[in-house]
Amino acid sequence: MALSSLYQSPPVDDSKQPDYINAVCQVNTHLTALELLHVCQAIEKKQHRVREKKWGARTIDLDIILYGVQVVASKQLIIPHPEMMNRAFVLVPLAELEDDLKVPVLGPIQELITKLGEFELLKL
Ligand code: ADP
Ligand code: MG
Repeated sequence: MALSSLYQSPPVDDSKQPDYINAVCQVNTHLTALELLHVCQAIEKKQHRVREKKWGARTIDLDIILYGVQVVASKQLIIPHPEMMNRAFVLVPLAELEDDLKVPVLGPIQELITKLGEFELLKL
């Protein structure tokens, strides 16, 4: 339904990995949240995702940030995404799609962005 701009940012752990490119897209789907996760994982696999260690550099990472107003807390899936409030590269592109979004549990997107303080993010 909608796709944000691409945003370039340094890796979360400040390591010597190359910068990441992030974006947020909005989709309509008949899939449940868990089915959608499995589709994301299948796409990651198809794109030959390679990763040596947790948080390490990878070719692709497809995460579910929100699923409408639904809140999910299971072993496989947590929605809203548990790290979204800490990540400018999630919040800023998300706000580009819907600048007055009220994020379930967490609150207004603009307040979440303000709470981040300073961040390094280059809109491409
Ligand atoms: P990360 O995205 O944290 O770098 P992975 O992509 O390997 O690491 O995801 C690890 C696990 O996170 C997945 O197996 C998945 O079950 C779980 N997970 C929990 N919540 C979500 C979510 N909202 N979106 C995507 N994966 C999630
Ligand atoms: Mg992931």
